[in-house]
Amino acid sequence: MLYQDQKLHIYNSLTGEKDLFAPVNEGHVGMYVCGPTVYSNVHLGNVRTFMSFDMIYRYFKHLGFKVRYVRNITDAGHLENDADEGEDRISKKARLEQIEPMEVVQKYTVDFHNILTTFNFLPPSIEPTATGHIIEQIEIIKEILDKGLAYEVNGSVYFDVLQYNKTHHYGILSGRNIEDLIHNTRALDGQSDKKNPQDFALWKRAEPQHIMRWPSPWSDGFPGWHLECTAMSTKYLGENFDIHGGGMDLKFPHHECEIAQAKACNDVNPVNIWMHANMLIMNGKKMAKSTGNYILPNEIFTGDNPHISKAYPPSVARFFMLQAHYRSILDFTDAGLQASEKGYYKLMEAISGIDTVPSAEQTSGFDVASWKQACYDAMNDDFNTPTLIAELFAAVKFINQLKDNKASISSADLEVLKISMFAFAFDVLGLENEEASNDTGHRLADTVEILINLRAEARANKDFELSDRIRDELSAIGIQLKDGKEGTSFSTN
Ligand SMILES: [Zn+2]
Repeated sequence: MLYQDQKLHIYNSLTGEKDLFAPVNEGHVGMYVCGPTVYSNVHLGNVRTFMSFDMIYRYFKHLGFKVRYVRNITDAGHLENDADEGEDRISKKARLEQIEPMEVVQKYTVDFHNILTTFNFLPPSIEPTATGHIIEQIEIIKEILDKGLAYEVNGSVYFDVLQYNKTHHYGILSGRNIEDLIHNTRALDGQSDKKNPQDFALWKRAEPQHIMRWPSPWSDGFPGWHLECTAMSTKYLGENFDIHGGGMDLKFPHHECEIAQAKACNDVNPVNIWMHANMLIMNGKKMAKSTGNYILPNEIFTGDNPHISKAYPPSVARFFMLQAHYRSILDFTDAGLQASEKGYYKLMEAISGIDTVPSAEQTSGFDVASWKQACYDAMNDDFNTPTLIAELFAAVKFINQLKDNKASISSADLEVLKISMFAFAFDVLGLENEEASNDTGHRLADTVEILINLRAEARANKDFELSDRIRDELSAIGIQLKDGKEGTSFSTN
């Protein structure tokens, strides 16, 4: 197996170092990633996080590991803020849209899957839901109560952080210490049932208006948000498993609470490697609907957003995202996408042309074996996709030299080069060759480009009748021209 030859190092948020990956069970990987709360359209930042773990999942599979990849759907229990207050996000949406909570869940789960499929994600091995695991969550609460690390008040159950911290280390993942936490947590307002403000809910009694509720030994209510991941990861991956991932924003309190719950229950370290993907910003600023600095994932494919000059195929957007390391902040810009588009087509063109390259007696000017290992070295260094992509471009340069008869390659080396290019570009990075599948789209873009140039010429000659006619007739068939500082672009509807 490939994994026996490759030494994979992964940055572990728990140790703050790149740890050598040593699976709990030889040849197997257990990986849990916190999934979406399905109450609105999936955010591009979340797509980036899930794409990072899709790439990681793909690399493990490529190395020959048997991977069990669990990514949950949060369909209950996630309140509006982290202090166990506010409405359940799904219930609120259901109330606002006057539909059943499960209709909200269905609608946004379908949206989530559609977007991920468009981006060529592999489905996880198991995609469990919080509402499908209420019994498991209740069992965990019972155990934590038995250990004396939780308490019940008025039908709600809270995790006792101070009591837990006497024998364990609360803050082990986020690096926060208990004194600071006590100091920085907002004081209780007298309405709360909690003993201490840093405690968190394991079970909440449902208020009369709360429609999502289940019976429990304590009250008709619903589980705390942090609990579902402990219940589902333990059920499907065991008490101690290899990798737990999520977005950086989940490190505290969500993942810290997951560790506390699991340790309180089983007294073992639940996760060997914690991985956190960094965030995505747009045009150098935080993405937010309220400021308009915002784009929905599918708007990238339609071009229907003021922040981009045109539509981009999913593989271009995917390639753009993987050009940044998953632990770096990614700045989403139109200029960045344009540059990635050029690079992406250059890569696809080289890969498509590899079959027509003639082989020779020997290889000159390129060491294929060391190049291949450099590709692995990049991925073995904490999944360094930007370095891998740089290596792929080194090969593109060589392939282009071969095409121009400026270098030669032996048939054995050509085979290695071809297999490796396909494996890294398609299996590991998960790109698709839009060039082959989207030829019509390409020709359309080229044709419109010709008309845009003719229109510019007409305008330069002050033939406004012709230039307006080009614009209007394109508009009549659903192609909108947009004049901007950088010239004219178009979108289709
Ligand atoms: Zn989670």
